[in-house]
Amino acid sequence: MDILKYHLPQSSYKRPTIRIAPRYITIHSEAGCTARAKLKELAAEADLHQKSYHLLVDECEIIECIPLNELAYHAGDGRGSGNYSSIGLLICTSGNDILALAKAARLTACLLYQYGWSTEAVVQHNRWSSVDCPKALRQGCKWHKWLRDVEAEKRRLEKADEIRRLIHAL
Ligand SMILES: [Zn+2]
Repeated sequence: MDILKYHLPQSSYKRPTIRIAPRYITIHSEAGCTARAKLKELAAEADLHQKSYHLLVDECEIIECIPLNELAYHAGDGRGSGNYSSIGLLICTSGNDILALAKAARLTACLLYQYGWSTEAVVQHNRWSSVDCPKALRQGCKWHKWLRDVEAEKRRLEKADEIRRLIHAL
């Protein structure tokens, strides 16, 4: 997957450059913004909120704005496991929500595959603090359905890898 890297400048508010060893992927969502607009907002020097994410994804692109092994303040749990042990992934929806959610599922599957994690490592922001986030996935059975999409994408990656290994062994 193409991931654009536009890292935020190092600062105590957004990117304190504290090393973390992530064990979870925390899913967030925000309506009415694109990944690029969110990046601009986070990068604005006047923005002194201690809030950031590792990855921003919308229907068109994926932007990494903090390296995945550095702390980002996204979980709202201070020094808890949300901030200190998880990758913050924000799904930005502003048009075609279905496409944005599908792209986010593929990205999440890639991360699981890369780290060797199961879908149990994928959690809602709500797990760390009592907020209605990711709102785009919390109604009805949306979350479970989306996780099944993540699982299917992950299996596809594993299968492709298996085929590559088989070809290599010929
Ligand atoms: Zn959130």
